[in-house]
Amino acid sequence: GKQQQQQQHIGHMSTGAKIPLGLKRKALRVVVTGGAGFVGSHLVDKLIARGDSVIVVDNFFTGRKENVMHHLGNPRFELIRHDVVEPLLLEVDQIYHLACPASPVHYKFNPVKTIISSSFHACLLMTNVVGTLNMLGLAKRVGARFLLTSTSEVYGDPLQHPQKEEYWGNVNPIGVRSCYDEGKRTAETLAMDYHRGELVNVRIARIFNTYGPRMCIDDGRVVSNFVAQALRKEPMTIYGDGNQTRSFQYVSDLVNGLMRLMESEHVGPFNLGNPGEFTMLELAEIVKEVIDPDAKIEFRENTEDDPHKRKPDISKAKDLLGWEPKIALRDGLPRMVSDFRKRLFGDHKE
Ligand code: NAD
Ligand code: UDP
Ligand code: UDP
Repeated sequence: GKQQQQQQHIGHMSTGAKIPLGLKRKALRVVVTGGAGFVGSHLVDKLIARGDSVIVVDNFFTGRKENVMHHLGNPRFELIRHDVVEPLLLEVDQIYHLACPASPVHYKFNPVKTIISSSFHACLLMTNVVGTLNMLGLAKRVGARFLLTSTSEVYGDPLQHPQKEEYWGNVNPIGVRSCYDEGKRTAETLAMDYHRGELVNVRIARIFNTYGPRMCIDDGRVVSNFVAQALRKEPMTIYGDGNQTRSFQYVSDLVNGLMRLMESEHVGPFNLGNPGEFTMLELAEIVKEVIDPDAKIEFRENTEDDPHKRKPDISKAKDLLGWEPKIALRDGLPRMVSDFRKRLFGDHKE
């Protein structure tokens, strides 16, 4: 059965794949969980362009079909609506595991302490724990390579700056964002256990704040909030005094890093982020420059356990993967702005 399937698959690949002659790399069957989301859909674009066959597994919780619609009809592309909390049988070579309802609006803000919100937190944890376990089980059964997209949130409110991969972090286990932070920490634990105990070929990426086209417009992240607010002529909302820092990475840099890591022989974890560090006040100023010099700022109370600063030390990825980000915030932001303009107002400018 398995061998036959593999043969059929190779036959199919030889008709669909566009690999330049002389390039020895074999076309692969790749699963991207969460592939209809922001990062996932950009990764899918790059994998398809490289000549691979891609299966997107997504339950559309925070992702959108529109993000991958342009591949429908391509024989090398398949879209499966599936919740990774349920087991899944597929025959593949690589698994990029991105599925995770990552929008902060769902896990950071809990204005009315409703049951819906706590059950959402449970769902986030289940996705990170049971979903990751299932995808590791799948990787083990078929001998696939498995890449986990973890997060800089595993460092919590860091007491080391910038953060190196050796740092174990400063995470509150019982706070409002713990379901996300601890969920990802557990996912890393599971990946390492399957690596050591079951010899699964795993890769771990710790992703720092990433922005770009196709980001959810109303998911509450700071770059999407400021850009949407400035475009809608609403004041940009700064939480707290605005002196907290983040490092913002353009999505194509991240996708290159994820693929480099998957193809490398290194398990990680690897920080993937842009070391350029900005306060939220500085970010608001840059958004003003790019969109509207008259944009206003409004201060709001900050959320609990908000990390004061965050900046990746990327020397490990530079040394071992030969990777570093190329696109500075001032260059990446305009590309995101034109995408948001189209989605908010249609093709014509406001
Ligand atoms: P996203 O919300 O746009 O994408 C996540 C995708 O996973 C969505 O399409 C969603 O529908 C899907 N999904 C959620 N739960 C699922 C489930 N149970 N079964 C199947 N699919 C499910 O978020 P993103 O920004 O593209 O993030 C992708 C990954 O990168 C996530 O794992 C996230 O934690 C990680 N990450 C992102 C950032 C960032 O700044 N964007 C930073 C750190 C880590
Ligand atoms: N699993 C899956 N697809 C597979 C193989 C396993 O979804 O192709 C799930 C399986 O349902 C289980 C989890 O992955 O819940 C872990 O699998 P493993 O084989 O490691 O553990 P076991 O099933 O032996 O408990
Ligand atoms: N933030 C802000 N205004 C907003 C949304 C977020 O000032 O409208 C702040 C938030 O308090 C945090 C930073 O921006 O200090 C980054 O928040 P985000 O949710 O984007 O990412 P994370 O906190 O997960 O790094």
